[in-house]
Amino acid sequence: MSQQVVTRFAPSPTGFLHIGGARTALFNWLYARGRGGKFLLRIEDTDRARSTPAATQAILDGLAWLGLDHDGEAVSQFARAPRHAEVAHALLDAGKAYKCFATQDEIETFREAARAEGRSTLYRSPWRDADPATHPDAPFVIRIKAPREGATVIRDVVQGDVTIRNDQLDDMVLLRSDGTPVYMLAVAVDDHDMGVTHVIRGDDHLNNAARQMMIYEAMGWPLPVYAHIPLIHGPDGKKLSKRHGALGVEEYQKMGYPAAAMRNYLARLGWSHGDDEFFSDMQAREWFDITGIGKSPARLDFKKLENLCGRHIAAMDDAALLHELKGFLAATGQPPLSDEKLQLLEQAMYCLKDRARTFPELIEKATFILADRPIMADAGAAAHLDDVSRGILKELTPHLQNATWSRNSVEELVTQFAEDHGMKFGKLAGPLRAALAGRTATPSVFDMMLVLGRDETTARLTDVAGLGG
Ligand code: GLU
Repeated sequence: MSQQVVTRFAPSPTGFLHIGGARTALFNWLYARGRGGKFLLRIEDTDRARSTPAATQAILDGLAWLGLDHDGEAVSQFARAPRHAEVAHALLDAGKAYKCFATQDEIETFREAARAEGRSTLYRSPWRDADPATHPDAPFVIRIKAPREGATVIRDVVQGDVTIRNDQLDDMVLLRSDGTPVYMLAVAVDDHDMGVTHVIRGDDHLNNAARQMMIYEAMGWPLPVYAHIPLIHGPDGKKLSKRHGALGVEEYQKMGYPAAAMRNYLARLGWSHGDDEFFSDMQAREWFDITGIGKSPARLDFKKLENLCGRHIAAMDDAALLHELKGFLAATGQPPLSDEKLQLLEQAMYCLKDRARTFPELIEKATFILADRPIMADAGAAAHLDDVSRGILKELTPHLQNATWSRNSVEELVTQFAEDHGMKFGKLAGPLRAALAGRTATPSVFDMMLVLGRDETTARLTDVAGLGG
């Protein structure tokens, strides 16, 4: 039986869940979910000065919004510090690590001399091979005995083989003199203990892999598969900055992008499956593989993102869309919708969801439902409500009051009415849109009438017709 795939997302809770982190999480989630594996979450909160509960919460909220559920409880790296120390001591006992009593001053003196002589400034501790009998009763750190000869090869499935000469690696500190573990030890021990089989993360961690591998090798643990993915760049090919959209994912939610579209877009950011641009979660899970990850940085492109959003909104199930819309309103601090409005929205979703790329656009199209009488026309719509058109609406209203409220008969009635008055339906549509929605960009007049019902439709027409006197 082949081993179960276990991936993890290991964010440091020092800020929001940014777009690059979200993509790393997504890749790990897709890889595990597509293989019946596990996707674990580890909060790397060892840096006590910079880690905050608010940032942890922002990460959890961002993952929840994106629908990237993890298996089991989130692991706190800080809480595992005793286990990290245990491994450092195990390496010490096995002779793979040593106590180093060098003081900061001694290390600095070593480096200055090395600089002056043009040698490598990597610290070479005299304590590496010292007889324990000579150890002073003084504070010490625990250092790993790094290999000095040969090379370390990271067999990265995205980057290919990356070779680092061992004489470029120092005897890294594992445990500080106050007994606290260093980050590199914590990551290696946690990945091992959590059974992580595939480490998929940003390529800014590629150099760390060599150091983490040293710990694995010293402990005799089997190595995970490494996949270091290129970072995301801005549309201009430069490193992603705030101006480019290096924002927390909650900002994307606030801009009104549906989570399904974000997943689709983020999956395509650095990974491809032929020419497929638009796909479902099911397809992404089935198709996603590390072999489809590109070696060069992907560029963030809001146009493409919005285009995908429009396609997802159009394709989404009405109830799911409504659910996300509610989330959008809450995230942007807007009041929740009444049950009555929600019901109308659900009925109208079929005519709202095409050609809306974001939730604000969908809401704009839904003005005829969300606004209450009397409907306030914006400037564009108001231009359609002159005295003549008001007179026509006034005349049309009693016909509608007596109509059978079905699409066919309302459409027939209005078309016939226009014909009887010697005008094209188009001429009537502007004033009708203005009266029913107060906007010029709306769903079709008949769709609005059907959703609103006879009473509300005629009441809105009477409101504007009445103003004409
Ligand atoms: N905590 C690291 C970060 O947020 C990730 C470490 C890892 O994936 O190994 O960049």
